[in-house]
Amino acid sequence: MTKKLFLENVYLKEFTANILSILEKEGKYHIILDQSAFYPEGGGQPHDLGWIDNSEVDYVYEEDHRVYHVVNTLPANLTQVKCKIDWERRFDHMQQHLGQHILSSVFDNLFDAATVGFHLGSEFVTIDITLQDITKQQIERAEYLSNQIIWNNLHVKQLYPDPETLKSLPLRKQPKVTENIRIIEIDQVDYSPCGGTHPSQTGEVGIIKIRGWEKIRDSARIEFICGSRALKDYSWKNDQINTLSNLFSVKDQDTQSAVERIYHENQTMKKESKATRDQLMAYEAKSLYDQAEVHTTVRIVHEIFDQRDFGELRQLAAKIVSNPNVIVLLGTKDKEKAQIILSRSNEININMNELFKEIAPLINGKGGGNSQTAQGGGSDISNLASSLQAAQNIITKRYLTKA
Ligand SMILES: [Zn+2]
Repeated sequence: MTKKLFLENVYLKEFTANILSILEKEGKYHIILDQSAFYPEGGGQPHDLGWIDNSEVDYVYEEDHRVYHVVNTLPANLTQVKCKIDWERRFDHMQQHLGQHILSSVFDNLFDAATVGFHLGSEFVTIDITLQDITKQQIERAEYLSNQIIWNNLHVKQLYPDPETLKSLPLRKQPKVTENIRIIEIDQVDYSPCGGTHPSQTGEVGIIKIRGWEKIRDSARIEFICGSRALKDYSWKNDQINTLSNLFSVKDQDTQSAVERIYHENQTMKKESKATRDQLMAYEAKSLYDQAEVHTTVRIVHEIFDQRDFGELRQLAAKIVSNPNVIVLLGTKDKEKAQIILSRSNEININMNELFKEIAPLINGKGGGNSQTAQGGGSDISNLASSLQAAQNIITKRYLTKA
């Protein structure tokens, strides 16, 4: 059995202990001490970290009243060891954990909402409360009252009541264990069975800030942070607001309206820009159509562009072939590839996919399509012009010769 020193003095950071036994599992050592200030994972609170002599403890758990400290290397001394817990991590857990008691108690008192879930994560803390549709006003009220409990700096006591006394206490929830029941009392405000670690005054929680909430089945999940986590959260948000207010040259409180204004302006500009581009493309399509060579009754639009967006080229081709009796042979090239699109009006009886397959090898190209439109790209940029010329020659000699 390991004596849990954190139950007597939650502020104990360093202690000396005797090693009772060591288990070796999967290359790690699980050390059992006769007494320990390390909190083993449990009750929603994560385990402590720290050192046994110079060996780093990276996991702590409890089984059959023994606390196991998992290390990668054995301590130099295998009898009596000096131990130290990672206090920053532990104090953070204490702030979050007591914050949870306070918040759960306030939701219980205000709205008769029980806490049915608790998760102390590495970044955020959540509780699930039995309140189906929670409002912003309710959240604000609970948050304010919770912080008042912190500012009133109430005593946090641990009680080990006998069964008679236990019955008389107004417990917020029923204990999960049947012996050595430990009750955490927040100065006549809240009584809750718990085996975790908590500061002895509510003031040490510093602040509780609710970050958000969401509906989870029949309950509400409240995400919050306390103490140092809340300060860190405030810091990055402050930095962002300051950066944005400088960027938009507005007061910090006006950044939201500035961002909204820019957002709406941007939406309008996008629409206008698209309309302008569509108009330009219509002119371009008309101009290419008008200037195209006419072979018998068919116009052939034959054009090579430099670094033209291929999506745009497809739109251009589609616009041109919406006219009757026209074939488009369009290409574009950049430093790495050549791309081709071949298309025709509905009534022309030429299979553009077959035509594409015939000329694609010239640019070392791949692709395809259907009988009306085919497209693809290849790596042989230098042959782009000759491949399109080949396509045009096939069309004129094979299909458009006068009868
Ligand atoms: Zn607790």
